[in-house]
Amino acid sequence: MKNVPEIFGSMVFNDDVMRERLPKEVYKSLTKTIATGKTIDASVADVVANAMKDWAIEKGATHYTHWFQPLTGVTAEKHDSFISPVGPCKVVMEFSGKELIKGESDASSFPSGGLRATFEARGYTAWDPASYAFVKDGTLYIPTAFCSYTGEALDTKTPLLRSMDAISAEGLRILRLFGDTTSNRLTTTVGAEQEYFIIDKEMYNLRKDLIYTGRTLFGAPAPKGQELEDHYFGPLKSRISSFMSDLDVSLWTLGIISKTKHNEAAPAQHELAPIYVTTNMAVDQNLLIMEYMKKTAEKHGLVCLLHEKPYAGVNGSGKHNNWSITTDSGKNLLDPGKTPSENIKFLLILAAILKAVDDYQDLMRLSVSFAGNDHRLGANEAPPAIVSVFLGEELDSIIDSIVNGDTYKSKNAGIMDLGIPSVPTFRKDTTDRNRTSPFAFTGNKFEFRMLGSSQNIAMPNIVLNTAVAESFRQFADVLEKADNFDAAVAKLIKETFAEHRRIIFDGNGYSEEWEKEAESRGLLNLKTSVDAYKTFNLPKNVKLFTSHGVMSESEINSRQDILFENYSKIINIEALTMIEMASRDIIPAVNAYIGEVANTAALKAEVAPEASCDIEKEIITKLSALNSKAYRKVSELKDAERKAAAIKNKEKMSEAYKDDVLPLMTELRSVVDKMEMLTSSEFWPLPSYGDMMFRV
Ligand code: ADP
Ligand code: MG
Repeated sequence: MKNVPEIFGSMVFNDDVMRERLPKEVYKSLTKTIATGKTIDASVADVVANAMKDWAIEKGATHYTHWFQPLTGVTAEKHDSFISPVGPCKVVMEFSGKELIKGESDASSFPSGGLRATFEARGYTAWDPASYAFVKDGTLYIPTAFCSYTGEALDTKTPLLRSMDAISAEGLRILRLFGDTTSNRLTTTVGAEQEYFIIDKEMYNLRKDLIYTGRTLFGAPAPKGQELEDHYFGPLKSRISSFMSDLDVSLWTLGIISKTKHNEAAPAQHELAPIYVTTNMAVDQNLLIMEYMKKTAEKHGLVCLLHEKPYAGVNGSGKHNNWSITTDSGKNLLDPGKTPSENIKFLLILAAILKAVDDYQDLMRLSVSFAGNDHRLGANEAPPAIVSVFLGEELDSIIDSIVNGDTYKSKNAGIMDLGIPSVPTFRKDTTDRNRTSPFAFTGNKFEFRMLGSSQNIAMPNIVLNTAVAESFRQFADVLEKADNFDAAVAKLIKETFAEHRRIIFDGNGYSEEWEKEAESRGLLNLKTSVDAYKTFNLPKNVKLFTSHGVMSESEINSRQDILFENYSKIINIEALTMIEMASRDIIPAVNAYIGEVANTAALKAEVAPEASCDIEKEIITKLSALNSKAYRKVSELKDAERKAAAIKNKEKMSEAYKDDVLPLMTELRSVVDKMEMLTSSEFWPLPSYGDMMFRV
């Protein structure tokens, strides 16, 4: 086994390396840049670039790349070597500050959602000094933001960094009011727990649906699913265990604190949890985790499925985004304090978050909306599509007492007087009983549980940061003007809790009663991604993003376009894959089997005319009927797909895919799955659910 502390972060140009390798003044100036988010001086950049290059070459690098996160949902990179000619047959390895800070890139092949029509095709990448550079596969990776030449963001990182600035600026106003004069920056922290499935590579190769779409589009359920609950936290199979160990080593090398790994609820489903870091790094690290899961699985003859719903009938995969706010001196603002005044600050911050989630339910929902996640949210396994907050019994009753203006009776500490501003201490409720809640307080952080396993986690954090920044701003606007601060805070907390407690829900989020109850509370129930996308450019949402400088109106509109378009593209690929599999593999296979059964019957009649051919007749009749039904469904699906694909308006197009194409896909699948159960496995052209989930 490797020496873990020695390999940990060995491929990362992190703070230790910077301190060791940079002249003192340069190091100071760089860390100041990182802490304040200000731009870096050109002379400093030259020194940093040179040190980075020397370090990277020692680690075996020959190339560098500006690594960015375009709106495709995956990462992008273009490699340049450090080589620079110094004579006809001589080169040196060079890397300048200019090359570190800014790279030019042709933006025309990345989604721009219309920004390209009005602006130049050229784009540029800009170094994000707050995310560490690292060496991977002989290349120095420099995390960057990606913008159009006119400065419009074409990526997920730019608005994320802007949202981090927004919450810091507005949050500091609140802290100042509580007498904090020393904090200079607030950062949000994120720990993203990642779920995934593993499948044997040979099985995977036999499934076009997995290859093209990441999920099975056909497949009758296996006799066994997850009903015995024997997989969750069960012992790791040795093949999985060696894959996980390999994965850990790769991640540790890149400075990712991969901490927990275990089997998940569904067969062949697993989870990895890293320890939390600053949000922008957490986003980078989660992308690297997903990349390495795939790569490492390949090395072990396996394939990692990151899709939200690879298999029908068993749990899908999500991601839990654990989120908190910390001061630059390391104080977690979501940690309920030990003294009354700390508690008031905590309650105010809690009120700000409740208000943010309630005011921007639509954006929270939107931030986790894409075709793959529609199979989970609201489908009785993941959190429902309705956004609500779980706080736990103790905080609930504290909020009740504050709103009702009565004394709070703690089970543990007898009667407590909650006549704000002199709130006494209370114990934090760390128990996390409600696994169905989309957004749960878990002691010193919130856990946003609606995220899909395959998604880039930037958008949910952009929404959270910005929405909470807005609450902070509104609070600070009121409190900065107040004559009697204590009374004003008490009033604000009480009013905010009263206005927004409708978002709190502690019951079973999967129940039908909750849907009804949520409706009567006026909460949103955006059932599909398409419904959620429509809310992106509502005036209140445009105002939120533009007023905090997180996204401009054209950036919002372009992103909305891309979302609609991407949804349609995904369903389109799925529909075409189903058409191809049904027409070319499944229908012919069933026909061949029918032929085989018919031959058997004919032979039987010849050899033993008295033998019964009832079974053969029944099989032939049933399968023939189903196969012609499948054939007809394929034609209907083809028509619907063609019609949807021809629609020009992006929103209307996505609606057609959702309302006309998806239901036909479900119908076709149901016919095919019935045939699977009637056809000899020798003839069935695809590995079964049992083969895929239980033979890893
Ligand atoms: P579980 O959700 O299984 O109970 P934990 O509570 O230990 O597990 O943590 C889950 C995730 O939450 C981990 O990634 C952890 O690093 C992260 N986490 C813990 N504290 C914070 C925090 N202050 N900010 C963000 N994430 C956090
Ligand atoms: Mg968790």
